[in-house]
Amino acid sequence: MKKKTIIAGILFAAFGLTKMSAQINFGDKAIGAVQKGVTGFTFSNADAAKLSKEAVDKLDSEHEIAGPSDGYALRLNRVFGKHVSGEGFSLNYKVYKLKEVNAFATADGSVRVYSGLMDIMDDNELIAVIGHEIGHVANNDSRDAVRAAYQKEALMDGVASQSATVATVTDSQLGKIGSAIIDSKYSRKQESEADLYAYNFMKKNGYNVNAEESAFRILAKMSEGSQASFIDQMMSSHPDSNKRADEAKKRAEKDGLYKPYVQQKIVNTVPAATTTKKAAKTKKTTTKKK
Ligand SMILES: [Zn+2]
Repeated sequence: MKKKTIIAGILFAAFGLTKMSAQINFGDKAIGAVQKGVTGFTFSNADAAKLSKEAVDKLDSEHEIAGPSDGYALRLNRVFGKHVSGEGFSLNYKVYKLKEVNAFATADGSVRVYSGLMDIMDDNELIAVIGHEIGHVANNDSRDAVRAAYQKEALMDGVASQSATVATVTDSQLGKIGSAIIDSKYSRKQESEADLYAYNFMKKNGYNVNAEESAFRILAKMSEGSQASFIDQMMSSHPDSNKRADEAKKRAEKDGLYKPYVQQKIVNTVPAATTTKKAAKTKKTTTKKK
């Protein structure tokens, strides 16, 4: 995994050009340009779900996934397990054992959280980030992203470009679509709507909504601090995390819920004397993406 995907999926996706734009740019212009080349192209929600599922299956096979007795899996199960249904779609989730700070969700409802994110976010902050990702699914951003990725691959390949329906993609195309999903660039509007979704999700479920502001502050700090060298330059070029934190704070103030957030203890180890519960499916591989 290249380090450029650090934080890619979570919060920095919206802010203009990065070097990844050459790879896939989900801006309106790019989508429009791609769509021009395809006439009579249909891509249903079912198509999006099916293709996303295939791409995620491939990503899963290429990443080390926290097994059922792994502390990260146990924690995600505890924090997020109760939210897999009830939002109008069903979600599944797994932890990728990667130091990178990232999370993403796809149109089929697959949520993937990197252990690096779980290292720096407490339970409420984690819910804020996951809530944001669910927002992209609920708002159909994820569907639009996979459609754009598919169209790009289909057009570049030339094979499926004239097809009115979604053609079978090759394994290599699927890999590129998977990468595009991880690196999805959403518009500023999409990002802010997903932020709002996360806020409402937290409020509705009785979480401390101030954790959303906190999550953004953490990311903003990371982009400025000593870890910046570890983090790709795309991070340091996106100071907007603070702005989004400000917006989260404003929402909380408006609701009369604002209180400076104090980060809770982060525990990713297996609790003592715990029994092994069913968590993410065990899948181990040494294959790396790209
Ligand atoms: Zn986002």
